[in-house]
Amino acid sequence: MAASETHPVAASVLPNRNADAPAAFDLDKCVHCGLCLNACPTYRELGVEMDSPRGRVYQMVQVATGQMEMGPSYIEHLDLCLACRACETACPSGVPYGRMIEAARAEIQSAKAQSKLPESGAERLIRALVFGLILPSRRWLRAIGALLWMYEATGLRSLVQGCGVLKLFGKLGRIEPLSPSAEMPTFFASYGRIFPAEGERRYRVAILGGCIANIFFARLHEATVRVLTANGCEVHVPENQTCCGALHAHSGEREQARVLARRNIDALLPGDYDAIISNTAGCGSALKEYHELLEHDPAYAERAKAFVAKMRDVNEFLAGIGLTRAPGRIETTVTYQDSCHLLHGQKIRNAPRELLAQIPGVAFRELPYSDICCGSAGVYNVVQDEMAAALIERKIGYANATGAEIIATANPGCMLQLRAGVARHGTGQKVMHVIELLDASYGGTKL
Ligand code: SF4
Ligand code: SF4
Repeated sequence: MAASETHPVAASVLPNRNADAPAAFDLDKCVHCGLCLNACPTYRELGVEMDSPRGRVYQMVQVATGQMEMGPSYIEHLDLCLACRACETACPSGVPYGRMIEAARAEIQSAKAQSKLPESGAERLIRALVFGLILPSRRWLRAIGALLWMYEATGLRSLVQGCGVLKLFGKLGRIEPLSPSAEMPTFFASYGRIFPAEGERRYRVAILGGCIANIFFARLHEATVRVLTANGCEVHVPENQTCCGALHAHSGEREQARVLARRNIDALLPGDYDAIISNTAGCGSALKEYHELLEHDPAYAERAKAFVAKMRDVNEFLAGIGLTRAPGRIETTVTYQDSCHLLHGQKIRNAPRELLAQIPGVAFRELPYSDICCGSAGVYNVVQDEMAAALIERKIGYANATGAEIIATANPGCMLQLRAGVARHGTGQKVMHVIELLDASYGGTKL
């Protein structure tokens, strides 16, 4: 059989494509069966083939083979994708959709950088500031955290929200009331510290703080440290770690993601920890894929594999080692929203449910469609706020139907989106990370 019969895309792909463009052998895997369609949040909302996984793969193939331009329509359909990877879970042919959408976005960004596609000055500036300057810089993140904290502590935020001026700022104004509060002290204060295990040391682990989570989820990070130490782990917070690069990779900035990946490998791998732990499913998923990001880097390819071998989501790690400190009683009802990058990215479904089941008094109620994205998806709820609002409205409806008082999840981004949904719809549930619930059962986090 000729190669073109088994690999039709590979046989007709355009020469000289960007190295980060979707690989022909990935594009070839889709057999157009459509079994992914109902797993896709954007297809479920819009019913439009071009906004389905199959439709997006088809468009990638068309671009790869020169039958379609990498123009505004293509970019629009790809931009609307949440990169939630529910289609990957549903696909029986093993289409690696997550890495394909990242590659397609990288190809678009590369074309913009080479002026083959238009990019406004404002877009270029915002991307340079966010991806190049702020997220990788502890100094910038600290400064912004301090400003946001003062904005709220001085009462300025209440004033701004009350006087109606936000209406003048369009999307930014709509998002502002839903944005989280900066927490002081930030988790950066714990960088360089070692937290001893309670009782006999069973494991020596490192924890990753990420970027903005150090500011907006400092208390969650501290709860994570407490739960790990309570269960026999000596927890290190390595000084030179940095942002994981997940937001960069999802947005097509793969070269910048590689720079950050190398920094994290240099900062953490020499520590020879038993495990490297993240409590943020989106970061964890990206961190577990450093070997793919750096596969063509001869100096880091092997080190990236060694790093990935040690990476664990905190739910996965704790469920795997077993809790040595028995959780205390909490009388409450809890439902659980799967974080896409834990369920679909890391294929972890049971670990968070197993941990919740070990807390006495917790009545667990399964959330219908918990495997469908809540609309958070990194910065998606900022840049695609209408689709994100539609998705969270449905999600809150399902959460209401469970009657649960607490919506648990495993990713700070999902927590923000769920909290915004609860606030917008006035439904009153508390939104917590699974680890915060465990910590509450130990007497740490207040319910
Ligand atoms: S991505 Fe997978 S499930 Fe979807 S159409 Fe292609 S082969 Fe079928
Ligand atoms: S990643 Fe999510 S939104 Fe994108 S095509 Fe797949 S299921 Fe749909």
